[in-house]
Formats: sequence, C-alpha cells, structure tokens
Amino acid sequence: MKAEIVSIGTELLLGGVLNTNARYLARKLAELGVDAERQTTVGDNPGRVAEVFAEAFRRADVVITTGGLGDTNDDITRASAEDFMGGGAGRTILPNRRGYAEGFILESGGKAIIALPGPPNECEPMFANGAAPWIRARVSGTIRSRTIRLCGIGESSAARAIADILDSQSNPTVAPYAGRAEMYFRVSAKAGSAAEADALTAPVADEIYRRLGEYVYAEGEDATLAGTVTAELLRRSLTIALAESCTGGLLSSAITDIPGASGTLLECAVTYSNDAKIRRLGVPAETLARFGAVSAETASAMAEGAAKRSGADIGVSVTGIAGPGGGSPEKPVGLVWFGIRYNGVTRTEGRLFGGTGGREAVRARAVSTALDIIRRSIKEI
Ligand code: AMP
Ligand code: MG
Repeated sequence: MKAEIVSIGTELLLGGVLNTNARYLARKLAELGVDAERQTTVGDNPGRVAEVFAEAFRRADVVITTGGLGDTNDDITRASAEDFMGGGAGRTILPNRRGYAEGFILESGGKAIIALPGPPNECEPMFANGAAPWIRARVSGTIRSRTIRLCGIGESSAARAIADILDSQSNPTVAPYAGRAEMYFRVSAKAGSAAEADALTAPVADEIYRRLGEYVYAEGEDATLAGTVTAELLRRSLTIALAESCTGGLLSSAITDIPGASGTLLECAVTYSNDAKIRRLGVPAETLARFGAVSAETASAMAEGAAKRSGADIGVSVTGIAGPGGGSPEKPVGLVWFGIRYNGVTRTEGRLFGGTGGREAVRARAVSTALDIIRRSIKEI
C-alpha cells in the first residue's frame, strides 16, 4: 500500500499551528509497513485541495487527510473528498469520541480517502481505533523494528562505523536518528510474519552490537538514558548524590523524572557560586582560586563532597561554561568538567561541547554525558 498524508488548514501554512498530525501519522504508517513517500500541506481552499488530491492519487492508493472536518465555512474536506471520489464511493464512518466532527473513509475504484479531524486529541485516537485496523486488514505482511539507542558517540562517527550496512540496506532498513546528545538506529524488517521479520533484523542488530556495543545503553522505543541509569543503580542497590553547577538541577531533574528514583538518589545540590561549592560541598577555597570553578580539580572536589556529605555510594559533579558569555581562550564556552566518586576513588572527565545550539545544547549534552559517565562507571563497580 502506498499512502500520502495531506494536512489541510490555512493556519498550518501560516505557521500558527505545528503540524503534529503529519508526524504522528507518518510514524504510525511506518509502523504499519505502509510506504508514505510524500506529505502535502494545503490551505482551506477547495480548488487547491482538489489539485492536491489529483496529484497524490497519481502515486498513492490511499490519501489520509487531517483538518477541515468541522462545520464552519472554511471546513471543506468533506465536500472536496466527495467531489473527488464521485457519487459511487463507499463510505465508512469513523466515530469521534472526543469531538463532534466524525471522520470517514471514502472508497472508489481501488482508491481511498481517509479523512481525520484536525485537533490532535481527536485525530490520533480516530486513526488508532478507526483507520489503523482498516489499513492493517489491507496490507500484507508485518513490519518489526528494533530501536538501538547509543550515547557517548556522535551520529557521524556511529554512522561511519556501520557505513557498509547503511549503504547496502534494503530489508531490514537501518535508519540513524540523532538527538542532541544521544542517537539511535532503527532496524526495521518487513516479512510475512513477525518471526520472519525478527529473523531478518537479528543479524543486522547483532552486527551493530558487535561494532558499537560499548555505546549501546538500551533498546526500545521508549527507553531513556536517565531511565536506564536509574534502573541500573536500583538493581545494584547503589545510592547516589549529585552536585551541579552549570546544569542547574537538570541532571537531578532527569533522574527524579524516573519513578522509583528515591530508592537511589539521596540528595542534589545546585552549587552555582564558589561560596556554595565551598560551604555545601567542602571544595577547598584554594582549589577554586588556583584552578577555577570549571576545572578537573573543582569537579573532583565537588564529587567527593557530594559523596561524603550525603553518605552516598556514588557522588557525581558537573561544572562548566554554558555560555554564551564567560568563555576564555583556555576555557572556552562549552567546556564542562565531570567528576565521579565511588569506592573511595574520584575520577574526572572534561568535554568540550562545541557547535550550534547554544546554552541549552551545552546543558542538555552535559546532562547526557553525566548520565553516560555514571552508566559506564557502575558497569565497573
Ligand atoms: P480543523 O479540523 O481544521 O478545524 O482544525 C481544528 C484545529 O486542530 C486547528 O485549529 C488546529 O489547532 C488543530 N490542527 C489542525 N490541523 C492540525 C495538524 N495537522 N497538526 C496539529 N494540529 C492541527
Ligand atoms: Mg481548519
């Protein structure tokens, strides 16, 4: 089956509303194994909607629309779909449990228009409950995916490590996705049954593990680095304490987002000023004066202070220059030092987070890196 997504709404063209329906539908179609090679956004204009239908159906069997299903004058999807399909179209009503505008499927001559409402809280359940079963009954085979999540390696290095696999892929497909500080590969295979699809993905996933296994922190659509690290700390009955400077509590927030974090996290200190680092963590004033707040020495003293003052098994620190100001030639913006203390030993790592993205990106990458340092360290404990 070939499908195209047509988003209808002048507000989308003007940038007033983010087109989250297209993203949702694209993901769901991929999961269903439907090829969706194009998306179109068009205003609330009958002539242009008709043109878009004509063009989309030159390539696709199914066009999925969102928006324009209400009963105000600008809602033209129903009339446009009926005009396009002609009187002989079979109609399936898609009930709307969240709003009043019902959706529908019009079928004629081997083609179908699936019309869904614009509000995402109506569009998504209507697709899941009404459209997806209709599609599933008409696509042959099944698609199965594995999402292999990596951290501590950039997208380009990771892609280079499996360049031959990326170049020669067909079934399974292997697609890299990059987040700000983490990335994943999605390995997807299409086959007659789930078992056959799994058998196709397995050797490719194994090869990715063989080459990049040290960077893999988890597998799965919903896995997160913070969740993985917290679960691992809990599993090993290890307690942790955090001392943050440039991340201002983001690391603590990432861990406390995870249900059950109280079983491992004892305390978090946001020690932004030198004075706070001295008073709350016992960082020696001479260390700060001699090496500065952003240094291996200070990161080390912060981690040690966090562990000792809380009694936690592990103390972790983050101190850096998030920018945009505050950099110098020796200590540029994006320089972040991390400390981790466990088993009576403190280790430090420094990173320079360059590139675009500014303050927010430096802080986000610092959080992911701190989590990755914890992840790698507890493997050794
Ligand atoms: P409509 O069904 O066209 O009256 O759309 C109702 C509301 O749904 C709009 O005002 C938007 O806020 C929202 N909406 C419409 N299309 C989309 C879309 N593609 N993605 C996200 N929200 C949308
Ligand atoms: Mg509209």
